[in-house]
Amino acid sequence: MSKLSDRINRLNESETIKMSRISRELSEKGHDVINLSLGEPDFDTPTHIKEAAKKAIDDGYSHYPPISGYLDVRQAVAAKFKRENNLDYTPQQIVISTGAKQSIANVVLCLLNPGEEIILPEPYWVSYVEIAKLAEGVPVYIPTTIEADFKITPEQLREAITPKTKLLVFSTPCNPTGSVYSKDELEALAKVVAEFPDLYIISDEIYEHINFIGKHDSIAQFDFIKDRVIIVNGLSKAFAMTGWRIGYIGAPEWIAKACDKMQGQFTSAACSIAERAALAALSMDITPTLLMRDEFRKRRDLVLNLMKEIPGLKLNEPKGAFYVFPDITYYFGKTDGTTTINTAHDLSMYILNNAYVSIVSGEAFGDKNCIRFSYATSEDKLIEAIKRIKNVLAKLH
Ligand code: PMP
Ligand code: GLU
Repeated sequence: MSKLSDRINRLNESETIKMSRISRELSEKGHDVINLSLGEPDFDTPTHIKEAAKKAIDDGYSHYPPISGYLDVRQAVAAKFKRENNLDYTPQQIVISTGAKQSIANVVLCLLNPGEEIILPEPYWVSYVEIAKLAEGVPVYIPTTIEADFKITPEQLREAITPKTKLLVFSTPCNPTGSVYSKDELEALAKVVAEFPDLYIISDEIYEHINFIGKHDSIAQFDFIKDRVIIVNGLSKAFAMTGWRIGYIGAPEWIAKACDKMQGQFTSAACSIAERAALAALSMDITPTLLMRDEFRKRRDLVLNLMKEIPGLKLNEPKGAFYVFPDITYYFGKTDGTTTINTAHDLSMYILNNAYVSIVSGEAFGDKNCIRFSYATSEDKLIEAIKRIKNVLAKLH
């Protein structure tokens, strides 16, 4: 009998975190590794946010906050929803959590019963599946193609829904593809959802501000389904605050209440100091965020241009987030004489071991044909990384 529970034995380690760990271990052994595996801005948290945290420490914010977060922080989230998304939420509909990852886990664990189905358009973000497994839900996948910019159609959604379907989870802008759903595309999906009153949507909008088409659209804007949408967002990406661990939901009040109960038993409230910093981030001018976004756009263009020169990489044009997700099937069956590439995983390991660039294989996101590069690093490193990759791929015949 295993000493560990079946639950943890079934769970896979997060592949993004695993590849980052392997890359750190190789660096510690003295290799010059460029890490393009973790989706984390390389920028520093803006100064005014750091100052707010220092002040919070001096002001004695050292006690437990209310489980769902301080009222003024939840009010600031509600004001953000109104200001940036034209959506009405009361503070009772907001729950602040220890990262958007906890927000997603809260909602999935609160809504999904064992055996109920959770629809995941492929490619999906790694943790959705594992969180669904923790809830003993049944993932139902909707495949997409690079030609369709990795987006699902309303017809595909309708076909995937069964009497057991409880949740649809997707991100826009999307991790790992950078695809962004337009208002029309979201409305078409919302109309399908409207036909199935027991279906709820987790709309992961954590890359909202890293959007290169100038406008973010949320599926919650359609009033006819808003009472079945849970928006997940957070500060990690927009404010370069991955380590501060602040995420939040905007949800129907009964779902927010359930999440409050869930996290009241699991973790209690998010960190008091990080919450005060979040208040500053959400209340002040977002120019630093927009400057970071512009920098990401420049890097995207750089990466796309450099990758066009590598034979066999098929690319969509990401409209947001900070990833490229090329199709690399051209390399399947090729060898350098020692290693044969049969899968995306083989190729990512070949690149890591020969070019010392760490990336994540598409299998982790439910796509066997692609690999994910995070371009949230400096231009110099990106240029060097792609040069190295081009050289090692040229050895495959
Ligand atoms: N959703 C997506 C799509 C992500 O890429 C991430 C990044 N880690 C998260 C949620 C979780 O973010 P965090 O827990 O850092 O707020
Ligand atoms: N969301 C980031 C990524 O996809 C961070 C890693 C993680 O939280 O899994 O790489």
